[in-house]
Amino acid sequence: MSERIAFVTGASRGIGRACASSLAAAGHKLVIAARNVDQLEAFAGELRASGATVFVQPIDLASGDSIAEAFARAQKDFGPVTILVNNAGITKDGLALRMKREDWDTVIQTNLTGAFLCCQQAMQSMLKARWGRIINISSIVGETGNAGQANYVASKAGLIGLTKTLAQELASRTITVNAIAPGFIETDMTHVLSDELKTKLLGSIPLKRLGKPEDIAAAVRFLASEEASYITGHVLDVNGGMYM
Ligand code: NAP
Repeated sequence: MSERIAFVTGASRGIGRACASSLAAAGHKLVIAARNVDQLEAFAGELRASGATVFVQPIDLASGDSIAEAFARAQKDFGPVTILVNNAGITKDGLALRMKREDWDTVIQTNLTGAFLCCQQAMQSMLKARWGRIINISSIVGETGNAGQANYVASKAGLIGLTKTLAQELASRTITVNAIAPGFIETDMTHVLSDELKTKLLGSIPLKRLGKPEDIAAAVRFLASEEASYITGHVLDVNGGMYM
């Protein structure tokens, strides 16, 4: 398989970290991006020890300037990005009636606008290369809705619309754009859930376990591969059968 440069946002922990490891194992060079540089550096050390070529790039998805600077630096000092994994995401939950405007804006800005701006940046090098893979990490709740998460759900449903639109705009240049909709995955994001809620969730998952970051990473690795070249505009559910 040919070696590409993959840019993974939110690569310091959880799902993003697993995606970066998996893409490195597939032979790609990696740009790992997030806000906490110390965590990224520690992870980069582990990846390099296993033979990967890694570039650490600070980024704050809530800032358009930070995104533009991050891509400019990574592409100048490391090389053209042709695989983009828009993974970073946050929650600021609350019932819609009482949701603060600030919490709505921060989540939409980080999860949706941030991902869009990363696509805009990365598609320039993809268009030049006439090859690219964009993989947006949405969520099961972007398909089903979820009480108490109007901002998060809107951002994740928005990513699905963005995915299908970019898939149409970029197809003629051999750039595929897909989304993955994870169910409940064991990461820092879900560690905050109560045991009671986790037990209830397990009851609604046919495969009877929460997902692991590696379950999502395997899907990302496939969608980034040559083998997935005829798949675009797709939303891949990786949820243990929780939503079909
Ligand atoms: P996580 O463990 O909380 O990790 C989030 C990652 O995003 C971290 O690397 C974090 O690093 C980075 N990040 C957060 N805010 C950022 C910002 N403003 N700019 C740049 N990076 C930022 O989350 P996760 O569970 O792995 O989730 C990863 C993705 O999967 C998210 O989009 C999430 O919505 C989605 N997802 C997760 C689940 C689940 O059950 N866990 C289910 C469905 C979908 P820094 O804090 O250092 O920036």
